[in-house]
Amino acid sequence: MHTQQYDLVIIGAGLTGLTLAHYLRNSGMNVLILEKKDRPGGVIHTRQEKGFTYEEGPNTGMVKYGEVAELFEAMKAYGEPYIPDDSVKKRFIWKGRRWEALPSGLVSGLTTPLFTWKDKFRLLGEPFRKAGRHREETLDQMVKRRMGRSFLNYAVDPFILGVYAGDPSMIVPAYALPRLYNLEQNYGSFIGGALRKKMEKKSALEQKATKDVFSFRGGLYNLIQGLYRSASPERFRFNVEDTRVTPDGEGFQVHFNHQGTRQQVAASRVVTTVGAYDLPDIFDFLSQQELDRLSNLQYARVIHAAVGFKQWKGPELEGFGGLVPHIENRDILGALFMSAFLPDRAPDNGALLSVFLGGIRREDIYHRSDDQIIETIRKELVDMFNLPDFNPDLLRINRYSKAIPQYGKESKTRFQTIQKVENRYPGLTIAGNLRDGIGMADRIKQAADIAGQIKQNHAN
Ligand SMILES: Cc1cc2nc3c(=O)[nH]c(=O)nc-3n(C[C@H](O)[C@H](O)[C@H](O)COP(=O)(O)OP(=O)(O)OC[C@H]3O[C@@H](n4cnc5c(N)ncnc54)[C@H](O)[C@@H]3O)c2cc1C
Repeated sequence: MHTQQYDLVIIGAGLTGLTLAHYLRNSGMNVLILEKKDRPGGVIHTRQEKGFTYEEGPNTGMVKYGEVAELFEAMKAYGEPYIPDDSVKKRFIWKGRRWEALPSGLVSGLTTPLFTWKDKFRLLGEPFRKAGRHREETLDQMVKRRMGRSFLNYAVDPFILGVYAGDPSMIVPAYALPRLYNLEQNYGSFIGGALRKKMEKKSALEQKATKDVFSFRGGLYNLIQGLYRSASPERFRFNVEDTRVTPDGEGFQVHFNHQGTRQQVAASRVVTTVGAYDLPDIFDFLSQQELDRLSNLQYARVIHAAVGFKQWKGPELEGFGGLVPHIENRDILGALFMSAFLPDRAPDNGALLSVFLGGIRREDIYHRSDDQIIETIRKELVDMFNLPDFNPDLLRINRYSKAIPQYGKESKTRFQTIQKVENRYPGLTIAGNLRDGIGMADRIKQAADIAGQIKQNHAN
């Protein structure tokens, strides 16, 4: 049997795999991308329905690395990012019976009812507090030590809910938030470190990083389609099943089912971009201990509901959205005001909200039936947005049983095992959101870095 030879096989056509394929499009390399689903994009998908344009998975990303800005420049011909205006900086936190604005400066920081006076004063001493000495310290311990409990409950906890659907007592900053961890380790303080970093000389690439939120005109699926088109659709195989990789001499054999037949290709390099839980099936040549270590990663279960109203009867929605601290004991994690900061998401006078439920600490909610979820959303939105009634014109529920990986204490062993396996099998890269961060920007940066390394190795 003739075995087709590729320079690179990428497994998974989510944002990571697509970005990598995009960067290698003109490299002269023969690249094959294998995807289990019938479309590219992984968890990213936009839908249009009844006059609403809504996301099923992630809603927005951040241009927090120069690589993100560079990607958008490079794929200009294929799609246009949308950067909302500054009103998106307004964010709300639920406390007691109302939404409170998250402070954005010194004055609002002093007057906000979110944090206690004791902690506000204590913050003045933050630059002078000793740096932590335990690499495995959890985020809640770190924040209580440096900033105080009210900052943990009403700033950090909702942030972790919004990004990870997670629990600060599980997240280890050294692995999950390395920038924050390094601020303390390198500069001795979050505040002082952030100020000093601002003044440091930046490379041309670093200068392109901003705090901007991004989406794409028409939704994030246009980012996906742009990457897919630029990466050459003929390189992709969709609906592949039972993908397996085995080392073979200096390279690899990759087996998979496609269109009813078992297929085999040879590859000099393989990059996986799949979830940690998918690795044991793909790498069945590794020892059970290594597979256990690679896949030892907990994911938050999340429900995302797109809720659209053709006629919004609540208060004017302005800003990015609101998050609900765990301590407030409510049944939603938060709601993003999608139509308030992105164009054409809802009909005029209407509103589109993205409501999140579940997460690491509320698995009970994930297991509720769709009818119960709708009732939960009704109860919470009516109460929290003062709605006279609840008759949404759009209500679409998507469940993610493995939504967001939680980088906890086990991360060290996972990262070490990845390194060990990659060293033993040169040409193999284990990528995706099991390392290097979970946000879309992290996925883009990881793919850009790997593309750079692969191009360099290929040229040598
Ligand atoms: C509900 C939700 C909300 C989120 N919200 C945000 C947000 O607002 N902002 C943000 O920045 N990030 C958000 N994220 C995180 C972000 O979306 C993801 O980290 C990112 O999109 C993951 O991209 P990926 O390519 O690494 O993985 P995925 O999108 O999971 O792609 C992996 C691909 O691999 C395929 N695959 C798996 N196994 C195989 C196999 N054996 N063979 C072939 N293919 C296989 C899968 O089908 C999938 O298409 C959210 C995630 C979720 C789930």
